[in-house]
Amino acid sequence: MWHPYTQEKTAPPPIGIARGRGVWLETEDGRRILDGTSSWWVNIHGHAHPFLNAALAKQAGELEHTIFAGFTHEPAVELAEKLVAILPEGLTRIFYSDNGSTAVEAALKMAYQFWQNLGEERKTFVALTNAYHGDTFGAMAASDASAFTKPFASLLFEVLRAANLEDIERIFLESSKEIAAVIVEPMLQGAGGMIIWKPEFLSGLRALCDRFDVLLIADEVLTGFGRTGKMFACEHAAVSPDIICLSKALTAGYLPLGVTAATEKIYAAFLSEDRLKTFFHGHSFTANPLACAVASASLELFKRENCLEKIAFINRKFTTRLPGLLELNCVKDVRIIGAVGVVELVSETDGYFANIGQNLYQEFLRRNILLRPLGSVLYFMPPYVISEQEIDWVLDEITEVLTGIDG
Ligand SMILES: *Cc1c(COP(=O)(O)O)cnc(C)c1O
Repeated sequence: MWHPYTQEKTAPPPIGIARGRGVWLETEDGRRILDGTSSWWVNIHGHAHPFLNAALAKQAGELEHTIFAGFTHEPAVELAEKLVAILPEGLTRIFYSDNGSTAVEAALKMAYQFWQNLGEERKTFVALTNAYHGDTFGAMAASDASAFTKPFASLLFEVLRAANLEDIERIFLESSKEIAAVIVEPMLQGAGGMIIWKPEFLSGLRALCDRFDVLLIADEVLTGFGRTGKMFACEHAAVSPDIICLSKALTAGYLPLGVTAATEKIYAAFLSEDRLKTFFHGHSFTANPLACAVASASLELFKRENCLEKIAFINRKFTTRLPGLLELNCVKDVRIIGAVGVVELVSETDGYFANIGQNLYQEFLRRNILLRPLGSVLYFMPPYVISEQEIDWVLDEITEVLTGIDG
């Protein structure tokens, strides 16, 4: 096999996982490892949850998959209704795909064709510094340049890069009529280094997009479903984007599914007698019924288990315990939002390849905790079902390891 983000020549052999229970991953040789990254940010209710397992099994007995062009099915309808009820206001049209990158691709294509369908030529996107939007070509173009995108740089379309509201206003003043959309990760930039933004940025951006008539795309692939303390990160600033991208925790980490939700205004621009105005985009597994059924069950569980309260509890634990780490010489910054706790370390080399990240990854694994630092940025992002005892144990271990580094 060929594993993702893995230098196969030097990487240690992968760890075989036999089963998952709650926040624990159980290895083939009987170790239990606490899943401190929510299995790449997707898991929220814990592994192998009986309620989700039952929903999946029930759906598998009815219909596993069908084409979604010209056909529809109850799991897709039910999930769309549930999503529209909780999404930021105005996002009423649900377009399904099958992962975060394709949710972003669909959003970019929707925004781009929207203007063409209206008879306008708008050929440029604006995105932020440190952005990460996925690994397919459009998503890579929107992402900030990095080691991940470098080999493909000459193939990526040009995107105007902004670091703040002033940059965006300047770009709009110069050329708003050429800009199709601005794409952002609201409140929290994930893979770019777990960077937290102020809600004022988001509300200011919404105001600028309204003033200059530019579309706003919110990539909530990571931030959706409670991760930042609100159901959707846009709620921190009480704004609605024109398009939102969802994936990751959408199915509670069970199956790949993507959603690109748009406003009626955008949807309406594709309605026409002219078939060329159709949104010609789709994937074989669009709206997979198994994935839709689990996603619906996950939303049900989210309510039943009062997940927003659990996230607030995790947040209070982080807020109580993490800032104390700033006293250590090796700690540069502590950042907390929702159920994400971030400790940025002092490092000789910045960025993804900082050695300290790899060393910490191995050290925490030895202690049976899966934490996968982004270079010198250590973060703890557990499934919401984590217990107080388990949080305390991980925070104790983090404190001990970092104190050890301090010497
Ligand atoms: C992970 C991520 C993506 C890509 O999702 P995949 O399912 O991994 O393709 C896009 N945007 C953001 C903000 C992400 O965190």
